[in-house]
Amino acid sequence: MVENFVLKFKVVLLGSSAVGKSSLVLRLCDNKFSETKESTIGAAFQNCSLDVGDTKVKLQIWDTAGQERYNSLTSMYYRGAKGAIIVFDCSNNDSFISAQNWVDEIRSKSSSNVKIIFVVNKTDLPQFKVDREEIEKFVNKNNLIFIETSAKTGLGVLELFSDLAIEMSEEY
Ligand code: GDP
Repeated sequence: MVENFVLKFKVVLLGSSAVGKSSLVLRLCDNKFSETKESTIGAAFQNCSLDVGDTKVKLQIWDTAGQERYNSLTSMYYRGAKGAIIVFDCSNNDSFISAQNWVDEIRSKSSSNVKIIFVVNKTDLPQFKVDREEIEKFVNKNNLIFIETSAKTGLGVLELFSDLAIEMSEEY
């Protein structure tokens, strides 16, 4: 049997604290959800494989381990990243407001062809507090791909990582 072609990409997660970054990774890699905040300190990145057509794509997914709180993500965090997922929480408008900083940060600190997906997480919650028109303006202004997810129910999570994998694969 011929081995499928394998591509490997580094992906970084960005966004305010508690928007669900670790939960999205937990849902993708282990198909689990936890209501309680578990510390991600110690695990810099996690590997997870996806099939995109006939190609196996290995994602090395970097999570912030809480350092986003102190604005202290190091250059090592961004180095070599081919994809970025910027997350905000639909029930927290401040997390949406902060998103512009994350877009500027990734665009200034990584290669110019980094693929970015903009994610609204926690869409299972009844309180969607962010103005949808504002989201649309933001997405158009920054030329981003936008996806709605819930790490809790799993909605959109595989689609999110698959779409990013497809975007990154197009360069190869
Ligand atoms: P991080 O700091 O951005 O990595 O956020 P976490 O993944 O630690 O999540 C913060 C909190 O939000 C935890 O209590 C999670 O259980 C909760 N959470 C994460 N994703 C979702 C979601 O999609 N829906 C709901 N209802 N809660 C979520």
